[in-house]
Parts: sequence; C-alpha cells; structure tokens
Amino acid sequence: MSVTRERCGVNDFQAAKRREDILRAAVHRRLLDPEDALLAGFLDLDGVAATVTALHDAFAGTAAPVLHTFAAKANSLIPVLAELRRLGMGCEVASPGELAQALAAGFAPERIVLDSPAKTRAELAHALDLGIAVNADNFQELERIDALLATRETPSASRLGVRVNPQVGSGSIVAMSTATATSKFGITLRDEGNEERLVRAYLDRPWLTWLHTHVGSQGVPLARIAEGVAAAVAFADKVNAAAGRRQITGIDIGGGLPVNFDGDEVTPTFADYVAALRAQAPALFDGGYEIVTEFGRSLLAKNGFIAAYVEYTKSAGGRPIAICHAGAQVATRTVFAPDSWPLRVCAHDPTGTAKTGEPVAQDIAGPCCFAGDLVAQARPLPPVDPGDIVTLLDTGAYYFSTPFHYNSLPEPAVHGVRRDPSGGLRFETLRSAQTVEQLLATVMDPRSTT
Ligand SMILES: *Cc1c(COP(=O)(O)O)cnc(C)c1O
Repeated sequence: MSVTRERCGVNDFQAAKRREDILRAAVHRRLLDPEDALLAGFLDLDGVAATVTALHDAFAGTAAPVLHTFAAKANSLIPVLAELRRLGMGCEVASPGELAQALAAGFAPERIVLDSPAKTRAELAHALDLGIAVNADNFQELERIDALLATRETPSASRLGVRVNPQVGSGSIVAMSTATATSKFGITLRDEGNEERLVRAYLDRPWLTWLHTHVGSQGVPLARIAEGVAAAVAFADKVNAAAGRRQITGIDIGGGLPVNFDGDEVTPTFADYVAALRAQAPALFDGGYEIVTEFGRSLLAKNGFIAAYVEYTKSAGGRPIAICHAGAQVATRTVFAPDSWPLRVCAHDPTGTAKTGEPVAQDIAGPCCFAGDLVAQARPLPPVDPGDIVTLLDTGAYYFSTPFHYNSLPEPAVHGVRRDPSGGLRFETLRSAQTVEQLLATVMDPRSTT
C-alpha cells in the first residue's frame, strides 16, 4: 500500500503512460490552460469500448438473451450515453431528467429501464406509453400501475417488474449498501410475511413478468452481491412454481460491481462477477430467464480522470498545502467522505509530464471556501509547485459528470479521447465548460426577466 501510495498508486506503467500522453496532448492543444482552462475531465473512449467488450464477453456464454444497460446516473452526459448506445448498451434511468437524456442519446424505448423509488403517476404513465421497462419499488407503486393499466385502451409494451431487497446485509460503505435490512429500496424478502404477499401480488397480476434486484455497490464484497442475486433467482423460481408456469421471464440483476480505487488493476472483473454468480445462482444461467444488467461505476470509473492546475502552494502548521482547482465541485464524495472514497492523486509538471522527486506529505486542497475541501490529505507526492497539474484518477463515473454547484463554481469541460491507428490522439468535446453567463442564467432573479 505505502509503495503504491508513494508512487501515487500508479502500478501499471502502460496505464500511467496512456494518461500522461492524454495530459500532455491536452496541454499542447490548450484544452488545459493555466489562464483559461484550469480544470477538465477526460474520458478514454477506447478504454470505455474495451470495458464494454469485457462486460459482453463475461456474459457471452449465457443461454438466454442479455441486455446490458448503463446506469445513467454514473455519467449522464448525452455524448457519453450515445457512445455507450453505439457500443451496444441499453440505459437504466431513475428520473424524468435521466429519461430525457437517454431518449436524446438515441436509446430505443425497449432498451431503457426505469428504476426510481419515487416515480410519480405522470412518470409511470409516460413510461407505459413509451414502452420502457419499469421496476416497481413497493406495493403502493404496484397499485398505481394497476390503476394506470386499467385506464389504458391498448396494452403497454413495457416489461414490468418489482424490485426486491434480499436483505443480505451491508458492505463497508453503509450509504452505498442497497441490501441492508432497512434499505429504502425495493420490497424486502426476509421481513415477516412479505415473501408470501409478493408471491400473491405476482399471481394477481399476470402482466408482472420481471424481477429486479440491485445489490451493491462500492464496498460490497462480490460474494454478498452474488448471494443477493441468488435470493432473487430463488424467489423468481418460487413465483413460477406457485403460478404453475414461467410467469417471471426475466431477471434484472442491477449493477453495483465495486471498483478498485487503490491501483491500476481492474479488480474485480466482470468475469470474476459472472463466476461468483455461476457459483451461487446457477439457475440464472440455465436459459429460463432473460437477463438485464445495470452497471455504472465499473464501466467508466477507471476510464476517466480529472486534471486541475495548482494555483498556489503554502505551508500551515508544518503541513505543505497545494491549492488546486479541483475540489468538492467535482469530487464531492471524496471531499465529504474521504475515508470511503479515497482517490489516487498524481502530480505533473506544467507540460503534463509526471513529476519525480522525493515524496513529501502534502494536502491537495480545492478552490471551495470551506476548510474540508481537500481531495487528499497528507498524501506523499513529489513536491508540487504553482503551475503544476494534479490528476484525480478513476473519476470517469460519478465525479466530473455529477458536479456540485458550491461557490457557484462552473461545470468544467469534459473531453473524450481516442487513439487513431497512427497513434495520434483525437479529442472530442463531451461537455463544454460552463461560462459565467450560463451560470448567471441559472440563478437569475425570475422577477427581473420578462
Ligand atoms: C446506481 C444504480 C445502478 C448502478 O450502480 P453502480 O454501482 O454504478 O454499478 C444500477 N441500478 C440501480 C437501480 C441503481 O440505483
């Protein structure tokens, strides 16, 4: 651990070289600029394609059809969603905004899944009209769907399911654990009487043909995730036995594969996950159930990084501090829950070349006006100077794509990168940097506009 930390957690020379090439090219093309572009996100689109291929390959041996959807909340930039669509993914959404983004990215309705614990009647009616799949979160939502279906003149094409909580317990980050005894998500399977009640709900509703569970995510061990999926599969078998027919035709196993934020190796892999599922839930693969997956973080995290200029350096109480332009506005979870979400941080000189030099414990602080705005504390890094660039690794999901508007800091640009066959790098804009004018428009006094 200490060895990788001292070398900023970089333990794969090739991966480090790819990031450094991108950074140097970005500086050269002024996508990063100490005056005009102080902060930006980068997404390696070749890496994304390879990760999607790894996902498809891991499930390739399954007998039944599999639809892999991308959980839009992990990175909802429309060009990113469109790229994933072109790579053969569907899309999982959880709000009217995410649904609109998925449709704008060109996903066909039958490749979209709507999961949210707070769907309104209007959202449900819209989903049924479009024919997107819906997973109900609770018994009251099922009754709402009953009422909506009763008023329709034509049947809906939507695949309809119920989200269950197998209550297998928490991982190391309670806020990320969806299958605790008291989680807010889904219908609990272990609470007294619930399983019988839910079996009855299925038998009463022949249109209810899917089952959903999402056991995760970061910090939950693979075996526990697989245990949760196994409980869902056992429940589907029970419904089908009670119905005397294959009423449940498909199981949506959610996402939630954890990501390694400590080093460059991808672990666990999608193949590791499928092996755990085959061991604990073999019935999932016997061809009796179609499968939907909803991975987010594991598809994008390791393919993205944030780069920020260092504005000043100083020392306080004997601690060297570098003040840079990436803080809580792009690394919200890391700043507010540093023990749960540590990030690898690397130091680069103004050209983007990795700095060398004897590591010194430094705080890497962000630009926000509160004391806790630190992306790394007492982190051993080569001494950082004003004008240097720091990178925050593994931030392709839930970081630059999910900005926090503290201090009215603007949303930074996000650039996609591909290598052409000659080895050159091609950049494309996935999001333009927000301008002060755009920012003002979002906070304008409504009384002053006519
Ligand atoms: C967030 C979420 C996902 C994706 O989770 P990851 O940990 O990013 O893979 C999938 N399904 C549902 C229902 C979610 O809420």
